[in-house]
Amino acid sequence: MLRYRADIRTLLWMLVFAPGLVALQYARPDLLPYLSWLSFYFAISASTIAHNHQHCPTFENKTLNTLFSYWISIIYGFPTFAWIPTHNLNHHKYVNKPGDATITWRFTNSHNYLVAASYFFVSSYYQSGPIKEFLAQTKEKNPERYWVYVSQYVVVIGAHLGLAALAVSLHGVGLGLTVYAFTLLFPAIVSLWTVMTFNYDQHVHTDPWSRYNHSRNFVSPVLNFLLFNNGYHTVHHENAARHWSLAKEEHEKIKHLIDPSLNQKSMWLYWFKQYVLAPFFPSLGTKQIGRAPWDTGEGKLDLTTAPVGFGDTGTNVARV
Ligand SMILES: [Zn+2]
Repeated sequence: MLRYRADIRTLLWMLVFAPGLVALQYARPDLLPYLSWLSFYFAISASTIAHNHQHCPTFENKTLNTLFSYWISIIYGFPTFAWIPTHNLNHHKYVNKPGDATITWRFTNSHNYLVAASYFFVSSYYQSGPIKEFLAQTKEKNPERYWVYVSQYVVVIGAHLGLAALAVSLHGVGLGLTVYAFTLLFPAIVSLWTVMTFNYDQHVHTDPWSRYNHSRNFVSPVLNFLLFNNGYHTVHHENAARHWSLAKEEHEKIKHLIDPSLNQKSMWLYWFKQYVLAPFFPSLGTKQIGRAPWDTGEGKLDLTTAPVGFGDTGTNVARV
């Protein structure tokens, strides 16, 4: 059934641990203070699983892949199809260059806590255009697929409303909504925020024109175990369709070609240095490596590189 054996862990995470934890906390709300942080983690892992699943489907069988997309969407808190227009077709094509709806440098190329923390809101706003256009195009070209995508919204909203109602019916309004919020709603919000912030950190101050320095990697084995190898970002951009389980061995082959500052061992240490220490000791912060994303080499922004019909096509681009 599975295309890669490594996805046994994907299934364990999504079909056993994540829903099992929710069920346990629904049955025993007194366990919420001890277990809800795990629900936050599993929702974050669902975002990386959704990303992997959109690039390289988990199952051989198409129907199973569609059903799995619905299921991940509920845990992740957003329809997984949205990865296709904003990430697969757009971010992977433009890699933080003009035309990428998720550029890290939209209003400034400064890298500090405020820019990183607000990136989620800025990026979400600019992703909504490509999602709408993609849905309109799919409706025209492939109506059947269009209804699969639209129904993901229905399933996510319906499941969350249903699970909120179930919690209220089990435990009353106050405790019920608390149980729902700390097992499903807040983890989903944090998951969306985290995956976008992670994407920000993987590209801010990198050189999208370079063969190997277009991405920042987080190579900690623990982090990559927890986030299904999503720390190996250079090789992911080299071949996005490659299964996540092969990312580490590919990274080993090219890591010496990457600027050493773009192979960060620990994400936590990087965050601490960047967002806590660098405001006081700027030398500890990241610097733009190589050529800046908006520098087309012609001294001006080349709007012809912007995608047709996807994302921002050049208005409101960088002020450094
Ligand atoms: Zn990707």
